[in-house]
Amino acid sequence: MADTVLIRGATVVDQSGSRRADVRVGADGTIVEVGADLDPTGAEVVDASGAVVAPGLVDVHVHLRQPGKEEAETVETGARCAALGGYTAIVAMPNTTPAIDCAAVVREVLELGRTAPCDVHTSGAVTVGRGGEQLAPMAEMAALGVRLFTDDGAGVQDAGLMRRAMQYASDLGVTLAQHCEVDELAAGGHMHEGEWSSRLGIPGQPAEAEELMVARDLMLARMTGARVHFQHLSTAGSVELVRAARASGVQVTAEATTHHFTLTHAECASYSPLFKVAPPLRTDADVAAVRAGLADGSINAIATDHAPHTQEDKERPFEQAPPGMLGLETALALALTELDMPLEQLLAATSWFRPPSPASVTSMAARLHPVSPPTCACSTPPRRGWSTPPTPQVAVAIRPTPGARFGAGCATRCWPASSW
Ligand SMILES: [Zn+2]
Repeated sequence: MADTVLIRGATVVDQSGSRRADVRVGADGTIVEVGADLDPTGAEVVDASGAVVAPGLVDVHVHLRQPGKEEAETVETGARCAALGGYTAIVAMPNTTPAIDCAAVVREVLELGRTAPCDVHTSGAVTVGRGGEQLAPMAEMAALGVRLFTDDGAGVQDAGLMRRAMQYASDLGVTLAQHCEVDELAAGGHMHEGEWSSRLGIPGQPAEAEELMVARDLMLARMTGARVHFQHLSTAGSVELVRAARASGVQVTAEATTHHFTLTHAECASYSPLFKVAPPLRTDADVAAVRAGLADGSINAIATDHAPHTQEDKERPFEQAPPGMLGLETALALALTELDMPLEQLLAATSWFRPPSPASVTSMAARLHPVSPPTCACSTPPRRGWSTPPTPQVAVAIRPTPGARFGAGCATRCWPASSW
């Protein structure tokens, strides 16, 4: 077998634009050359005509369940899913057991990720145990490279605490990310409060449970000057609040999940807990607003919120089942087939977006992209035609997620991000 790989005839798309080029992957897996008509001597040639070669995808919102819930997912299995879906870097959420809220647990997760098939980064909790009462030692986690802090799975309810967290985050040069959900409004709700929750007799949570916290944190961000990142925005009102705040100078970024731009609360009519997610699936109008937000850049990133559970847990009745859906293996295919966005813009949302951090501090961007583009890790046929992998060696992943009903399987081949 040849030591090097030459990817021929692809359209290379990265931050510098789009062009026809060959890409050479070195014996150690690094991208060594990008250019026209590269010499194939001694290389395994991959014919990528008609395919796009782009930087590996980055997911800023993934649940790896380790430590504590290894029966649902581990760092290794989650990273493998990510690699199959075209991801070369993922950011783990801190709602593990124990929570990732101190240097010791951060070290544990990073150590577990060292041998994983993609780069594993971790976020850190904002509050101790994600309990919402006492700030976690953010500085000691930031010292280990944590650049994103969130209590994901829950929002920080106390506005005073959130204000202080924003101030610390600013001082540390890290990004504060928020799962926007006001407990008093969301409590007891298992799906979106609306037409379908009434019909099905399942208690709902209103859109305002999310929007109220988005509005509050935008005000706090304006007050503190901090940069805030909103996770999994799901309502039209939230998108509009972010759009208006950014236009007025607030430093805010946001992400949307694949399920929030492809599925609505009508899916819950099946009573299948597969469709139970947090925040819940919303209305047609909300889905349209999320898509519009992605299209006009009000929403910067596409995340998966990949949130596995054991089969036993997910087979409980709707109201008892935990929220969460898989996504890493189908996200790219869903984005390409469901969103009407230029490829460069779509890749910007799935690959080279980073929550902002001040340039004076080593940012997550630098950590995730140790070498500037062109980098290359993922080769996919553009848009439709997923059933035809570009090479025999390609990894094809089709898993029974709700996304798979679109017939979406991702055809990607990845080189480790550590090769950049
Ligand atoms: Zn969340």
